[in-house]
Amino acid sequence: MKRTLASLDPARLDGQRALVRVDFNCPVKDGVVADDTRIRASLPTISYLRAKGARVVLLSHFGRPKGGPDPKYSIRPCVRALETALGAPVTFIEDPLAEAAVITTKRLPRGGVALVENTRFYPGEETNDAGLSQQFAALGDFYVNDAFGSAHRAHASTAGVAHVLKPAVSGFLMERELKYLGEALAHPKRPFVAVLGGAKISGKIDLIDALLPKVDEILIGGAMANTFFRAMGLETGNSLVEADKVDLARALLDRAGPKLVLPKGVVIAPELREGITSLTVRRDAVPPGFSIFDIDPTTVEDFSRRITGAGTVIWNGPMGVFETKPFDQGTRAIAAAMAAATARGAITVIGGGDSAAAITQAGLADKVTHVSTGGGASLEFLEEKVLPGVAALDDV
Ligand code: ADP
Ligand code: MG
Repeated sequence: MKRTLASLDPARLDGQRALVRVDFNCPVKDGVVADDTRIRASLPTISYLRAKGARVVLLSHFGRPKGGPDPKYSIRPCVRALETALGAPVTFIEDPLAEAAVITTKRLPRGGVALVENTRFYPGEETNDAGLSQQFAALGDFYVNDAFGSAHRAHASTAGVAHVLKPAVSGFLMERELKYLGEALAHPKRPFVAVLGGAKISGKIDLIDALLPKVDEILIGGAMANTFFRAMGLETGNSLVEADKVDLARALLDRAGPKLVLPKGVVIAPELREGITSLTVRRDAVPPGFSIFDIDPTTVEDFSRRITGAGTVIWNGPMGVFETKPFDQGTRAIAAAMAAATARGAITVIGGGDSAAAITQAGLADKVTHVSTGGGASLEFLEEKVLPGVAALDDV
């Protein structure tokens, strides 16, 4: 268990500088934040600190600048977006390495907020440099990590700084992520069902390996299923198949036995095009020249029944090419089944960037227990890998 922000005596936060790692890696268009979801996700932590009289200094990466500062990747557009979200002014710290930066943080009013320039402008960030970690640490009196989505990276602003600036605690968003993902894995209400999909088996082998001994069933959809179909000797036409993973898929099928549940039928088309006429066929009836782009209604029914009968469900990866209609149907139906399971009392957790986008598109994000904000980080967490940004926080 990691120490949380709530565990710090609120009376002692007054006047202290909270150095908070957030994830403000928002989409920006023409210098304006186009979607402030990530900024709003950090508001509970920021507002709590402000209300307790802390001086709040925010650190975040922004995009992937290569080799130093690049105006294209300045985090400055987030200053305006954060001011709007907070309804309060935000000071921009352009150079956190300058002596003036420390003075700026100390001169913030109680409850004041500052945002530091893109942490990836500094070469030591991605190498978790000790010197840079010290320089970041000088900007605060204690550390809060609320950037779960970056916790799988051992960077100066996520890991290094947490080792030198104490106490180092989780923010409210981070705490939620650790609670829901952690509890689903450690104390699942049964039956425990995992639903896996997406483009490739290769990115999710470790996940299947880690989940197999824990879950009662793994339902497989998406292009991932195609590689299993090939391993079963079925015709897959022009479907996306990972030829070099067919042997592995065969081994998994042998090992998992009835725990692995594959689609009984699929939706196919001669090509991937919006609005194209599609066909529904049994999985052993895919003609050459066609591609599998979704799970069929029979599979939707089968998967939905298993999901709504579960005590815990983890979903990672869409069931089809949900970006292109009509191949969004399977994914939408699974999103609805997740919501239905939640309404019946199941714990439902969604990890993975595209799956999170799919449930949001379906308008059901608030009808499930938890939608993880961390794509790669949630995957690594579910694989039970150590997340350096979490490991570096104080233990309870
Ligand atoms: P997540 O981000 O939720 O972890 P992934 O990144 O693994 O999910 O996979 C998402 C992608 O998988 C989507 O872009 C989707 O179009 C693709 N996909 C799903 N099913 C198929 C399919 N049958 N053929 C090709 N691509 C697919
Ligand atoms: Mg993805």
